Amino acid sequence: MESVASQKIKIYNSLTGKKEIFNPVSKNRVGMYVCGPTVYSNVHLGNLRTFTSFDIMFRYLSHIGYKVRYVRNITDVGHLENDEDFGEDRIDKKARSENIEPMEVVQKYTCDFHGVLRRFNLLPPSIEPTATGHIIEQINLIKILVDKNLAYVKNGSVYFDVFEYNKKYKYGILSKRDLGDLIHNTRNTKGQSDKKNPQDFALWKKAKSNHIMKWGSPWSVGFPGWHIECTAMSNKYLGDLFDIHGGGIDLKFPHHECEIAQANACFGTNAANFWVHANMLTLNGAKMSKSTGNNILPNEIFSLGSPFLTKTFSESSVKFFMLQAHYRNVLDIGNDALIASERGFQRIKDAIDILKNIKTFSKKTSFNVKNWISDCYDAMNDDFNTPILISHLFEVVKFINKLNIGQAKITKADYNKLQNTIKLFMTDIMGLDIANKSSFKNDKFDQIINVLLELRKDARKNKDYKMSDRIRDMLKEKGISINDSDDNSSYTID
Ligand code: AMP
Ligand code: ZN
Repeated sequence: MESVASQKIKIYNSLTGKKEIFNPVSKNRVGMYVCGPTVYSNVHLGNLRTFTSFDIMFRYLSHIGYKVRYVRNITDVGHLENDEDFGEDRIDKKARSENIEPMEVVQKYTCDFHGVLRRFNLLPPSIEPTATGHIIEQINLIKILVDKNLAYVKNGSVYFDVFEYNKKYKYGILSKRDLGDLIHNTRNTKGQSDKKNPQDFALWKKAKSNHIMKWGSPWSVGFPGWHIECTAMSNKYLGDLFDIHGGGIDLKFPHHECEIAQANACFGTNAANFWVHANMLTLNGAKMSKSTGNNILPNEIFSLGSPFLTKTFSESSVKFFMLQAHYRNVLDIGNDALIASERGFQRIKDAIDILKNIKTFSKKTSFNVKNWISDCYDAMNDDFNTPILISHLFEVVKFINKLNIGQAKITKADYNKLQNTIKLFMTDIMGLDIANKSSFKNDKFDQIINVLLELRKDARKNKDYKMSDRIRDMLKEKGISINDSDDNSSYTID
């Protein structure tokens, strides 16, 4: 294990717009809070990309010796449609439309989220608090804000008074928005009549009669606003000032801006020293999103269930694809790009196998292993630059291939260092599965199932339903389910 002192990390801080040297609040400890999912629908690959980015940071910071407390919440109340202060609560709405309990919605999609993250080998956080489990803490913070005259009560709801706040502090420091410009650019006041100003945001909402999730409070029977939950949970587990606050870049405004205002008003801090934002995964150039249908669900990449893909991919190929881009850059996913990444990942896995079989050692190494290892660390120390790290791994692949054909030499000591370092970065830091040797077998399997799906399509076209049902039933017996849509069929392995 590298010692903390030997690694100086730089992290890009959205608050200052600069890469800064990372010095934690408490020596050798890191407190990191990441906004978790709103559990009203299945996670898509975009969500996965953001959580993968923070998983890598958690793994790397832990590896270099920090004791990391990683808090990632579950949003199970208060996140309204369109990230607004009016409209329906996403979970409440889903529960009403399906005539089930909100907690059934929460349970179902929390399980889906955990299942996906486990499958993609993301580590669980140290604490995973829920918003509904911290209503008292949220009410207590709102009381502080009301007492300080930075929040006001109107018709049973409580709003943060952005104008009053702006007299003492500055609203907009994260998203670099000026309150004056915000006023100028805000026209839509629909449903915001209780607010003194449209920029004010809800801390507590009085529940309408059909609202299911509601709690008693000094102001009304209602539910908390979306932003106050993260302030309450991060403060409870990480204190008034912690090290890293993360989330997708789409949360920067208003969610994170409002969190910063709440933290300044309650604790006199920006909550975290480093505000870190992961950029979006796009599909066909547009943000991957559940509501627009422009998305790929994790399950669809294993089962040919996405119209955007011609073949299946393994979890690690998809992760490798994501890590070939820096977390702060937009990344567009597509079939060809995934195929290219899968090949690259295979090249590294092949080299790892070749290395295992090298049995002859020399007195000298014709490659600077020490420099190469420090280059790998430098890449990660420079704002967790995984694409540069991967380019160093490709560099070492060339050396290993030369070793294999006797055009390069290595000492036993360097061999051990090389092998350990490749394993460290591929498995422990990037969380990739290097044991799964080849995607060739998976591809052949897909192709065989596709032949059967084509034959079944022909049978259905010819109204030979006996045959089409037979193919479906025989596959079902083998644990393969066919899912039919209007013009396509896909399969899932049960
Ligand atoms: P949500 O469940 O919508 O609150 O999102 C959970 C996390 O996924 C948040 O940090 C979002 O910023 C992030 N996220 C949502 N869509 C994308 C996307 N297309 N690419 C990357 N991250 C995303
Ligand atoms: Zn949050």
